[in-house]
Amino acid sequence: MFDRVVEAGDILPATEAIEMMDQVDLGPTIDIPEIPAGADPANITGEERRFLQGEIRRLKAERNALVLAHNYVPADIQDVADAVGDSLYLAQRGADSDADVLAEPSVLFMNQILAAMKKPHQKVLAPHLGALCSLAAHADVEKVRAWKEEHPDGLVISYVNTYIEVKAESDYCCASANAGKVLLHALEHSRPEQPILFLPDLFLGFYAARLMERRGQPLGRLWLMMGACHVHERIRPAHVEEQRRLHPGALTVVHPECGCTSACMRQVREGVVPETMLQFRSTQGMVALIKEVPQKEVIVATEVGNLHPMHKAVPEKTLIPASREALCAYMKQNTLANLYLSLRDMVHEITVDPELARRARIPIERMLRIL
Ligand code: SF4
Repeated sequence: MFDRVVEAGDILPATEAIEMMDQVDLGPTIDIPEIPAGADPANITGEERRFLQGEIRRLKAERNALVLAHNYVPADIQDVADAVGDSLYLAQRGADSDADVLAEPSVLFMNQILAAMKKPHQKVLAPHLGALCSLAAHADVEKVRAWKEEHPDGLVISYVNTYIEVKAESDYCCASANAGKVLLHALEHSRPEQPILFLPDLFLGFYAARLMERRGQPLGRLWLMMGACHVHERIRPAHVEEQRRLHPGALTVVHPECGCTSACMRQVREGVVPETMLQFRSTQGMVALIKEVPQKEVIVATEVGNLHPMHKAVPEKTLIPASREALCAYMKQNTLANLYLSLRDMVHEITVDPELARRARIPIERMLRIL
């Protein structure tokens, strides 16, 4: 049906991209590292943990440092952090902070946001420089530039999971928590025929496309990139079905980057599953949702690290990962030991080119304003 081979990272009209969703290999184009032993709290003795957490607390005070940890990093890092949250929340906390050091156990694209937004006296530290992202790797800046050349009046909305070069080419950034709002804002503030490119996550793009349709907006102006996160993409409909069979009374909450998103949305749309039993939320939105819902059991379709802040929020509820294999090896490059060393030796400073930072701040600041 399609006269060319479509690869991960290609940009297609939304209707074609959605049609090809299950036919394109969206696997990672970069190596997936081994998860180090130190990323599993079970491999650290109580004495070691007390030492490392005590030293991190001491260094935070000594260096006037703020530790910003993503929900997917190991639990013992989350427990010693000043803020734990998703990419949007940590970008906000970093932008609001006057601390001298912003140490962020997360991944490079998030560290780059802090480096672009930081005040002149601040340093941004990453515990490990190998913390990359398979989704960000799909977003090839040359493909974005080529699309812009073909569509000079087009608008680019890039998901936060992109590197600084792509953000610098974008009109808006968004995170999973505000993707819908950013898209609606862009629709309201553009001409009806203006093309819009949403990148790089195809599943989140599908979610955005459904939102456009619900608002009566034709999909003809929307373009999507064939990108995916290998962790979320591998959470397939069969994983969710199996857990729902085992736990029939449980609420299911799905991150829109998941490979099960389109099937789950279809089930809700067709009335196969009531909306009260199947919901879609961002990483941080899941933590908020679990406090509000009546169900005592919740099936969680996202990276399993997010179960830690969810459990802390409501310890009496039972959380069931849709897939226990949904582990991000990039996020797990962060360990207590390398966070300690980075703060102790002030190493792994993240810097970005000042001109790229200037251009990237425009879409990032829009993302932080549209909440
Ligand atoms: S979970 Fe996926 S999107 Fe998030 S950092 Fe890991 S590879 Fe990237």
